[in-house]
Amino acid sequence: MIDLNHFVSGARVPGQSSRFADVFNPATGTAEKRVPLASAAEVAKVVASASAAWPAWAKTPPLRRARILDRFKFLLQDNADKIAELISAEHGKTHDDALGEVTRGLEVVEFAVGIPHLLKGEVTENVGTNVDSHSLRQPLGVVAGITPFNFPCMVPMWMFPVALACGNSFVLKPSERDPSPSLLIAELLTQAGLPDGVFNVVHGDKEAVDALLAHPDVKAVSFVGSTPIARYIYATGTAQGKRVQALGGAKNHAIIMPDADIDMAVNALMGAAYGSAGERCMAVSVAVPVGEQTANALIEKLVPKIEALKVGPASDRSSEMGPLVTAQHLAKVRGYVDRGIKEGAKLVVDGRSFRAPQGYENGYFIGGSLFDAVTPDMTIWKEEIFGPVLSVVRAKSYQEAVELVGRHEYGNGVAVFTRDGDAARAFAHDIEVGMVGINVPIPVPMAFHSFGGWKASLFGDHHMHGPEGVRFYTRLKTITTRWPTGMRAEAEFVMPTMG
Ligand code: NAD
Repeated sequence: MIDLNHFVSGARVPGQSSRFADVFNPATGTAEKRVPLASAAEVAKVVASASAAWPAWAKTPPLRRARILDRFKFLLQDNADKIAELISAEHGKTHDDALGEVTRGLEVVEFAVGIPHLLKGEVTENVGTNVDSHSLRQPLGVVAGITPFNFPCMVPMWMFPVALACGNSFVLKPSERDPSPSLLIAELLTQAGLPDGVFNVVHGDKEAVDALLAHPDVKAVSFVGSTPIARYIYATGTAQGKRVQALGGAKNHAIIMPDADIDMAVNALMGAAYGSAGERCMAVSVAVPVGEQTANALIEKLVPKIEALKVGPASDRSSEMGPLVTAQHLAKVRGYVDRGIKEGAKLVVDGRSFRAPQGYENGYFIGGSLFDAVTPDMTIWKEEIFGPVLSVVRAKSYQEAVELVGRHEYGNGVAVFTRDGDAARAFAHDIEVGMVGINVPIPVPMAFHSFGGWKASLFGDHHMHGPEGVRFYTRLKTITTRWPTGMRAEAEFVMPTMG
């Protein structure tokens, strides 16, 4: 059993609380590592380290901060395989999928390297006679990131490259289920020249999170995870006067119009519903074919592909889908399949019958499942399953499909498959969802745009990375300047009007 450490002030530090959580290899079901769960006192020490490092980092010219991040980018590239192996060993996703996650994180570093340009302020000459104004954005101080299990590399990297580039110091509380990638990332940042204490990793559960939320020196909290916890983080953090962005769960629909390229839609759905075993906040979990013919054609083409899905461990590089993350999560996903049948949906492909390859019988594997005839009163439509289960809700018309999406509490991602530009344009305009794909199943914005959903998928005012990330991690200051003119330096007692 390997004991993992926290990462504080540039070094790995053992846990002091004597509380640990087992970290499992989901492909084998064995606990290979233990992660320490920090106490409030340990969190306070980490925050103190970040606070001490902050003033010098905030004063470091943005160009120098960018150069460190640039070196980090190359180290990430060189170590991408190693990071991907750590991800697969604790999360279970396939090696190529894990590499894809590293790349999407790296793109945020590429964006953050442009920080000198992004922090350029605004200047107005002569806001009044001989009076000039300029606005600039300054860092907040110590900021914290609390992240989910499903992207142990990419989601932290939605946050810290931008936060660090803006001149903040950072405390990351990664998921306790797959905590190792963040430790390697911390070491690469140190290797790139990041001063000690500017980036720290503290492991833990609710106790550590609550300590971060209560700490007066933590000025902002970025959270990604499930909606109940996102709601809690937002309410608690903002009540403590912190800036909070809290991204929650999702139920993403794909509408397939009668004029869609069905083969394109089917291939897109396969990746979007079953890639990463459905454990993606942008996974498509509901397909909404418009019209009976579309629905029949879609299901006919989906079934053989789902049955042929190659489910297996990441160590087999030909696997297309890995196991679920924990035994509890596997039980939950199986429970949803049972519930769907009980509530009257038609189970067309049953992933529960999947048998894992020899040597992996204790892994948390399940095959892909497909439900037809799902209706909006069913639990499998209402709740996020976060597993390889695709529900088909048949719609009679485009309007009915759009209304179905609008009724859902979540508003993270949505896609429409059509050849009709006019319908697609109207769809993009009208739909109440934060990220929209037109013939694109998983419309995750690139690093230089911002990522975020609407409704119960995001609490707060800012999306992540891109321009919104820069705004979140900085505060605006506006300076108005007048220089003495000597002769005209008499006092004025009326409200200045800048005329
Ligand atoms: P989770 O909410 O269980 O955990 C997220 C983080 O919160 C972890 O670091 C965890 O330690 C911490 N946490 C858990 N319970 C807590 C509590 N009671 N008090 C304080 N902190 C607590 O989420 P998860 O299971 O790790 O991740 C899956 C969820 O994340 C899914 O709902 C998925 O949709 C969502 N997600 C959303 C996005 C997005 O961009 N909207 C992206 C990725 C994942």
